[in-house]
Amino acid sequence: MLTCAEVTELVTSYLEGQMAWRRRMAFRLHLGMCKHCRAYLRQMKSTVKVLGRVPADPIPPELRDDLARRLVAMRKKDG
Ligand SMILES: [Zn+2]
Repeated sequence: MLTCAEVTELVTSYLEGQMAWRRRMAFRLHLGMCKHCRAYLRQMKSTVKVLGRVPADPIPPELRDDLARRLVAMRKKDG
């Protein structure tokens, strides 16, 4: 099972269609259960729409880590 942090890391290759099917399955499985990562993916998709491409480095690593931490915190709050 992928973690939220892994999903945020993988979202670029997912959107670029560069993900192996096994990984893609795990990715989609996580999305099915995690509304926060669904929201994140949605946000990324609209970014791609605006830019017309997948951003090379969508989120600086330090910000991404912060986001991942927040996602985990949100999940904990949801209980
Ligand atoms: Zn998640």
